[in-house]
Amino acid sequence: MTSGRTPLDHADPAGAPAPAVVVPGWLGFLILTFGCGLLAGLLEVGAVVLHKRFLDSNHLYGVSRHFVWTVPLVDAVLFLALGIVLGAAILAWPVQGRRVAFRVMAAFLVLPALLVVVPQVYGIAWLIVALGVAIRVVPVLERRTERVRRLFVWGLPVVILAVGALASYPFAADHYRCWRGASSMVPAPGSPNVILLVLDTVAADHLGLYGYSRPTSPTLDELASRGARFDAARATWSWTLPSHAGMFTGRWSHELSAGWLEPLDAARPTLAGYLAQQGYATAGFIANTLYCAWDSGLDRGFTTYRDFPLTASGALKAAVLVSRPIEGVQTAARWLDDWLGFPLVTPKARWLGSLLDADRKDAATVNRQFLHWLDHEKPSQRPFFAFLNYYDAHYPYQVPPTGIHRFGVAPRTAREAELTLNWWLIDKKNLAPSEIGFARDLYDDCVAHLDEQVGRLVDALELRNILRNTWLIVVADHGESFGEHEGVFCHGMSLYQTELHVPIVIVPPASSQPGQIVSQTVSLRDLPTSIVEMLGLERGSTFPGTSLVSLIKPVDAKVNRLQSLPQVLSEVVPNNPLDSDRTRLMVKPPPLVSLAEPGWSYIRREDSWSEELFHLENDPGESHDRSQDPAARRVLERMRDATSRLIGERPAPAVAGSGH
Ligand SMILES: [Zn+2]
Repeated sequence: MTSGRTPLDHADPAGAPAPAVVVPGWLGFLILTFGCGLLAGLLEVGAVVLHKRFLDSNHLYGVSRHFVWTVPLVDAVLFLALGIVLGAAILAWPVQGRRVAFRVMAAFLVLPALLVVVPQVYGIAWLIVALGVAIRVVPVLERRTERVRRLFVWGLPVVILAVGALASYPFAADHYRCWRGASSMVPAPGSPNVILLVLDTVAADHLGLYGYSRPTSPTLDELASRGARFDAARATWSWTLPSHAGMFTGRWSHELSAGWLEPLDAARPTLAGYLAQQGYATAGFIANTLYCAWDSGLDRGFTTYRDFPLTASGALKAAVLVSRPIEGVQTAARWLDDWLGFPLVTPKARWLGSLLDADRKDAATVNRQFLHWLDHEKPSQRPFFAFLNYYDAHYPYQVPPTGIHRFGVAPRTAREAELTLNWWLIDKKNLAPSEIGFARDLYDDCVAHLDEQVGRLVDALELRNILRNTWLIVVADHGESFGEHEGVFCHGMSLYQTELHVPIVIVPPASSQPGQIVSQTVSLRDLPTSIVEMLGLERGSTFPGTSLVSLIKPVDAKVNRLQSLPQVLSEVVPNNPLDSDRTRLMVKPPPLVSLAEPGWSYIRREDSWSEELFHLENDPGESHDRSQDPAARRVLERMRDATSRLIGERPAPAVAGSGH
């Protein structure tokens, strides 16, 4: 059936004699469907780019930058599958089958772009609209079969070439970045390296290093014993993207564009960009692809940036013809369960969605990618700045198959699986204390597993004798809440210590100093200016903040004394607008701003000026609000005014609002 007229050949729908062969048999029909799939994918990619640029309030893509060619390929495969079904229909019902097949094909050609441009419309509604248009348009084309045939013959190579060009673009961009990095000046021989390890979502209060009751951090304990441990370090924002943005630019969050839906723009210089200008090889290895990938803007200045793995599930997730039906199933499941009043099918529907999220990159993979780059790709004559982001402690609290449960247990029931896999989304209003404890145990397992993986990396670096000339810095971007304050879970929800208190451990090159403990209040935003000072590159640096280097130089006393009154700002706009099920989160506070100074933390809600004040030394859990305490009034007024000054807003009202 690959030559001559067959039931798959095109025929005039009105029953007129069929024109010259347009689609020669099965092979030609499948080539036609494949070409239509590629074209549908190209239209989808164009729609995605235009939508993100001009229509969508969310400017983060959330998929690999390779989507520009994987989407057309996925669509082509889906169209091939559709073509097989339609071809079978034509064989069974030659006249009606042809009539239906070409209209369905035409409808699916434009459906992905329609789904992308106006996602608010139900997919089934768009399909009906597309079919309606196809029913009107296809007969017109059928009357011009020869012209359509020529268009297809010439158009198919163009479409294939376009997909090929898009496929080569990400690789060419990588080569260009490396070439540009290789053309910069080479630093002096012996210049030290910097390795920045960011343990995403690791709360200082869950580390044995900071007195936690469980031994979750033997590696960090050991590193701190030959470096410096900062006891009062705070994140500038209580979730990933703005916190990393502050770490990379030295700026407070309100000075930056980064937000729930906005990447970091190019307005501020980044640490990686500055070090690349100084001739450093700069490389990032990212596990949190949600908020640290290429679309976050955090890749600016890196000559190498490894984020999304290039996998089949990632490619499927990026194609709207795959993701939208799964979302539809999940929505229907949620409606059904809301109607029933108990979760019957929602967990299964979420499991279906989790199949496309199977690209979670574990710490071992991040380590492997970094060490491979170090051994085989890094320019040999250049020092390097490497940024490793680990996602193992982030929800879902799943210990990798190679890991062990030290404090919790693997899920044994459907409810425990729900708590593990869907912790962020589940209804927190009626959680039993044992359920919160179950999740907390798993989180501690994940933290300990991550600590173990950091240890393996350190071992590998010592084998390579890298650390003798390297500053090793270990931090977290924010912490994690488990209901310590009413209704506050996860992160990005509050400015309490549970989400802001982060570890900072700095190990100098070939350190033989006994461990130091720095109790001074510091911020993650102090890292860029600290790192350029570590490398002796302060000249020309414009990074603001307080350098941490002076705090870790050998001092007479093992514990540094407070020398000034450093005040550290933190901000958050709670409520993740990307969370489609956010009504299940209990607390939806307005924008918050917080100030910390030695011994105290101050939190203000920006809509009502309601305030909280906590004495951290006596009340590290922040359970006793002192904002109404006359004895703390001076502290309150000082911190209130300093907060207003730092965020550049109007002065506080003469009489502040009441506490919470
Ligand atoms: Zn994070």
